[in-house]
Amino acid sequence: MEDLKQATDHLQPLNLPAQMGIYFQDRPGRVGVEDTPDAPIIRAERRRLRNWLSTNIPIQWGKKVNTIEHNDEGVSVTFEDGSTAKGDILVGADGINSIVRQHLLQKPAKDLLKLVPLAAIVGEVALEGDAFKRQLELGHSAYVYMSPTLGFANFNGLHEVNPDGVSAKYYWMLMQPDASVEDSEHWLQKATQQEKLDHVLKLASKLPARFRELFELTPASGIKTETHIWRDLELESLPAGRVVLLGDSAHAMTPFRGEGGYHSFIDAMKLSEKLVGLDSKDIDAINAAVAEYNSEMLERGAEAVRNSRNENSDKRTRDTKTKLTTANQLVRPLPEVEIDLKAVRS
Ligand SMILES: Cc1cc2nc3c(=O)[nH]c(=O)nc-3n(C[C@H](O)[C@H](O)[C@H](O)COP(=O)(O)OP(=O)(O)OC[C@H]3O[C@@H](n4cnc5c(N)ncnc54)[C@H](O)[C@@H]3O)c2cc1C
Repeated sequence: MEDLKQATDHLQPLNLPAQMGIYFQDRPGRVGVEDTPDAPIIRAERRRLRNWLSTNIPIQWGKKVNTIEHNDEGVSVTFEDGSTAKGDILVGADGINSIVRQHLLQKPAKDLLKLVPLAAIVGEVALEGDAFKRQLELGHSAYVYMSPTLGFANFNGLHEVNPDGVSAKYYWMLMQPDASVEDSEHWLQKATQQEKLDHVLKLASKLPARFRELFELTPASGIKTETHIWRDLELESLPAGRVVLLGDSAHAMTPFRGEGGYHSFIDAMKLSEKLVGLDSKDIDAINAAVAEYNSEMLERGAEAVRNSRNENSDKRTRDTKTKLTTANQLVRPLPEVEIDLKAVRS
């Protein structure tokens, strides 16, 4: 397979390390994390990562699982197009609204997922030249500005650098505590893109100029029309057998610590280790292996769900003693540096 970092790094073709910057209104300088040989971070662009993961795998796209049957002999899945597949193990990596989970627990997603009381507005913007350079300087991959007095939290991130190396796609998310976000009468359900942008610009006007810029450069057409409702999932137990869950289907979490995908990979690797070499006819061995996997995965997943939910809480933002973590690393002081786009072109 192609080298993972080469194939997926969202900063390519720039020769810059993945870097997350964190700024506080009431503290000088910045902290954050950065890719180093001792503490590597790969910030992967989603489409490139999917392409890399697809290497030599004959994927059949557009197959939607409808029904699942399983017993001690094997598993059988029926798809929406009427086709079926049979096998020894079914791994449900079908995301937050998992149909495999629904089959396994006999409960629909709405009975299991927990609302995260946040109203979020999401924007996307293309940048070039000096505006792009200024965002890279704030955090090569992403940055946040934290203050307990703002009443909102935001995450500003690079999606990917364009092949020309002087322009890029950015996205941001601005969130306010709001338990009523699901109500059909909530203003976000009906707001236009311009109304959402105006709301964001009013809130962002409290920020220092350089942290406002990304919002100010976003056109109304760059505001996501759908209202994003955050939900997460903590499961206490899962039955062990031929149907197994991994990733968001087992432990969906908010993205504030950037760990959901990371834990999906850990799940996949741990499950593979458990299953490899098993006799597919030996149901006792399969049950034992899956029970061990479930136990570790659910405990690790639930902890990540709780940590991710609390990461953006008011208390957390005020707290100066607890160590902050992002991309699974403790943050450390991160000196600010000026960037010359030509010089960092690889
Ligand atoms: C805004 C945002 C930012 C994030 N940032 C980060 C980050 O920086 N770092 C990180 O580690 N994680 C991040 N995450 C989390 C990460 O995206 C998820 O944890 C990860 O994608 C979960 O992978 P998964 O395979 O379990 O589920 P998904 O990626 O949701 O994939 C599920 C797949 O199953 C398919 N599917 C669903 N139902 C069916 C069905 N019935 N039949 C067949 N197929 C079906 C879906 O189409 C989809 O392709 C972020 C998430 C969001 C929303």
